[in-house]
Amino acid sequence: MDMQSLLRALPKVDRLLERDDLKALCAVHPRVLVADAVRETLDELRDEIRAGGEPDVSEHAVAARAAMLAERMARRSLRRVVNATGIVVHTNLGRSCLAKAAVDAVAEVSGSYSTLEYDVEAGERGSRHVHVEELICRLTGAEAAMAVNNNAAAVLLSLAGLSRGKRAIVSRGQLVEIGGSFRVPDVMRESGAVMVEVGTTNKTHLRDYENAITPDTGLLLKVHTSNYRVVGFTQEVSLEELVELGARHGVPVMEDQGSGVLVDLREWGLPYEPTIGESVAAGADVVTCSGDKLLGGPQAGIIAGKWHVVQALKKHPMARAVRLDKMTLAALEVTLRLYLDPERARREIPTLRMLSARLEEMRERAEALAERVAHACGDAYATGTAPEVSRAGGGALPMADIPTVVTTVVPSRMSVGELEARLRCGEPPIITRISDERLLIDPRTLLDGDEAAIVSALATLAR
Ligand SMILES: *Cc1c(COP(=O)(O)O)cnc(C)c1O
Repeated sequence: MDMQSLLRALPKVDRLLERDDLKALCAVHPRVLVADAVRETLDELRDEIRAGGEPDVSEHAVAARAAMLAERMARRSLRRVVNATGIVVHTNLGRSCLAKAAVDAVAEVSGSYSTLEYDVEAGERGSRHVHVEELICRLTGAEAAMAVNNNAAAVLLSLAGLSRGKRAIVSRGQLVEIGGSFRVPDVMRESGAVMVEVGTTNKTHLRDYENAITPDTGLLLKVHTSNYRVVGFTQEVSLEELVELGARHGVPVMEDQGSGVLVDLREWGLPYEPTIGESVAAGADVVTCSGDKLLGGPQAGIIAGKWHVVQALKKHPMARAVRLDKMTLAALEVTLRLYLDPERARREIPTLRMLSARLEEMRERAEALAERVAHACGDAYATGTAPEVSRAGGGALPMADIPTVVTTVVPSRMSVGELEARLRCGEPPIITRISDERLLIDPRTLLDGDEAAIVSALATLAR
């Protein structure tokens, strides 16, 4: 058929939507979506024909193609994936997974009315801060605390509250970028603080801060350089020294701690990372951190510090714009409650469980998965195990290689790149790594049921 005949042969939208198969689809998905899929499919076919192609324009073929597109359009955009990368706090994959108890609390509080801002005993209006304030204080030793939308908001609010229009002194070695868009100098500017850089990239001394203090200095700021380390010929001023200097000049001290560590990670065989409690004990007026990095909770920013500072921040006009919603508060409260028993926190908070899982457990799980894949898929793949490293991710513990054992999969009927892409585009998407022409599956970041999903996806692709 020539181009014009092909174009004329394309079925009409209305006729397609009258077919039983597409009508059945309209019973499951919104009709507007199916109609859009039909129109889009016809547009694509017209483009293909005009480009010289000869696609199948039979009603049946066009309807099948439109149905596939409709299914894709109807699929939820934000949905579960299997994280087989071994990067525990994977920022692109949603950072921390919530503990089961936190998930349940989110479901309860979001599907019903709640005590969000209601004091049941007094029978009157309450404060949304109460749900987490006491817990944060208990776990960190702080006098007062509040939680906001994320750590970026915690830093922004604290800077605005403490240092708007005043000088905030910070070391050049700590003017870092964390994640895509959190850059310390930019956040400082937006907060209205006047940034005063001191020291050099690798060395900053106490006298550098001291020489920069003037009557209009509002803050001494220390930033944990989370995802970045200066090694070698370096010098940083400790929080204790900054606090002592601040006290002498009547200038408050703030630390952006970042990852939100509440317990000494060395107990679980991980590298040392300063805890929020240590920063509070060192005397910082305000300490901020994320809720969804090493803390293992929902996206949130925690502000812990001196009573009068936190009270002022609660009343700051910006506080309302960065406040937490009830679902996040529910998840954060339950996550923090788990920390009251640290061993229970380690067992039940996925981020902590994954980070502290033993190498021997990883070996057993990697071997078991390799066997299951070999059993289910025959000779479609060569499977094995190999020593590798997992990572904390999320800009936390940047220097820490966490030893692991991965399952390796080498496909015999397609390239390893194609296998990676097909797993990624499946349902659920399975995100893996490639190294040395092998597909790597790190059991460290797999949740219950993920192994079964991987075996089933590999078996389907083997057919
Ligand atoms: C991650 C991080 C931030 C940004 O925190 P979000 O919760 O992602 O907004 C800010 N400062 C430090 C030191 C961090 O590690």
